[in-house]
Amino acid sequence: MPIRSIAAALTAFMTFATVLLAQKVAPKLDGKASSSNPRLETLKQEAVSDVESRTVFSQQMVDQIFSYAELGFQEIETTRYLADILKTNGFSVQEGIAGIPTAFMATWGSGKPVIALGSDIDCIPQASQKPGVAWHEPMIEGAPGHGEGHNSGQAVNITAALAVKKIMEREHLPGTLRIWTGTAEELVGSKAYFIRAGLFKDVDIALFTHVDNDLTVSWGPREGTGLVSVQYSFLGETAHAASAPWRGRSALDAVELMDAGWNFRREHLRLSQRSHYVITDGGDQPNVVPRTASVWYYFRETDYPHIKELWQIGDDMAKGAALMTGVQVLPDKVLGSAWPQHFNKVVAETTWANIQKVGLPKWSEGDQALAVALQKELKNPKTDGLRTKLSEKLQGPVTENNGGGSDDIGDISWNVPTVTLRYPSNIPGLPGHNWANAISMATPIAHKGVTAGAKVQAMTMLDLVMRPELVDQAWAYFRDVQTKDTKYEPLIRAQDQPAIWLNKATMDKFRPEMKKYYYDPSRFKTYLDQLGIKYPTVKASQ
Ligand SMILES: [Zn+2]
Repeated sequence: MPIRSIAAALTAFMTFATVLLAQKVAPKLDGKASSSNPRLETLKQEAVSDVESRTVFSQQMVDQIFSYAELGFQEIETTRYLADILKTNGFSVQEGIAGIPTAFMATWGSGKPVIALGSDIDCIPQASQKPGVAWHEPMIEGAPGHGEGHNSGQAVNITAALAVKKIMEREHLPGTLRIWTGTAEELVGSKAYFIRAGLFKDVDIALFTHVDNDLTVSWGPREGTGLVSVQYSFLGETAHAASAPWRGRSALDAVELMDAGWNFRREHLRLSQRSHYVITDGGDQPNVVPRTASVWYYFRETDYPHIKELWQIGDDMAKGAALMTGVQVLPDKVLGSAWPQHFNKVVAETTWANIQKVGLPKWSEGDQALAVALQKELKNPKTDGLRTKLSEKLQGPVTENNGGGSDDIGDISWNVPTVTLRYPSNIPGLPGHNWANAISMATPIAHKGVTAGAKVQAMTMLDLVMRPELVDQAWAYFRDVQTKDTKYEPLIRAQDQPAIWLNKATMDKFRPEMKKYYYDPSRFKTYLDQLGIKYPTVKASQ
């Protein structure tokens, strides 16, 4: 055998051995997520450096939206601000999508693949909090605040999109980038309407992103629930509550009996369910028998049939309460809905490979000091600060689902191959939907987490743009595995409309005071600077 042939045979054998070895080391990746395309790798490196060069841009977005702190369906400043940034950067922006004034879909580019980048933008009632201060100290007592961290996700997506757009333009790569708002996510109020309006019909892949205390992604059915959010209203008759109470019929009595009934029934529901309510109208004043009253329920379960079942029990209970009190139950109003989430295997594997390249941010002593101080303040059993190690493996399907939270990204995930990239902008061990979750959200912790997330997002976008086979494989999983036996049926009914009036009164009440604290990046480097907060601010004993 001539030397050249021996060399060729050896090379072939080595390549074969390397492939075998790679398969052994990472059997789950199937060669899908890793790529041996040197051009792609070079462009990914360039995207990472580009994201790194935009840290001031990302930080300003995070801080600006933190300072707006707008509740669901009232994200007026936030969407105007984001749409302006996107227009300035060459995106065309379709505003008021699906009949929701504070929702938009921005588009740049042309052709396939169509990649839709989404993230939530709304905040939490009563979560006003000074950032960087390790105890409860509201900026404005009773005001809303970013106690979920939804001020940061758009910065992840927009930073990544601009880095990738620059490369696509120069390299003449076909593809369309969409950026859309997770409007009123805390009300699970918009995404089912986006689907109904056909906004994801031509989308190939949805890359969603959500704040976390880790850099991670997952695939398959997720732990947690879907839900329907329903308001029941009752109509009675007023009367003088002291001189002629027998002439009145109290709608509030019906609400109270419905709630009492639900709380008895709760014992006999599946352990995975979650249900909760608030009374949104409890009458006017005690001496007038309440003519109207309303109660707002979230019915959560782990799959569509069980959500429908809970909803039916709720309807029956409302009728029962009306019968008991001699009032009328009005047609129920759906205020929001969410399907349980199911994420795409191929896109998750692709993202996971990029997560490992990026790794967790390098935290400063100050970052860790803030995290530990807050964990101590909350009397957490674990007070070891921010994560410094990525989890060892990609999270796959959840087999035993004990219930938990919901996100209407579930609806998108049953229509288009979707994943949620989680990025480390918050502190481990917090209660959620709380002032404590706002503390890190306009500090270097949030800023570094966003930059890490944007690097991953940019690399994954390049994978999808330059390796069309990934999109095909993602759809194969979507069609042949995910939706083989389960078909999407919206929880919203034909007559339901987005509940865009919600939170208006609260924002009208607080906005004038909140305006005084809007971030002004032309005068201050960071929001902490503007507020004059020393970072980190911790108690001496912490
Ligand atoms: Zn959220």
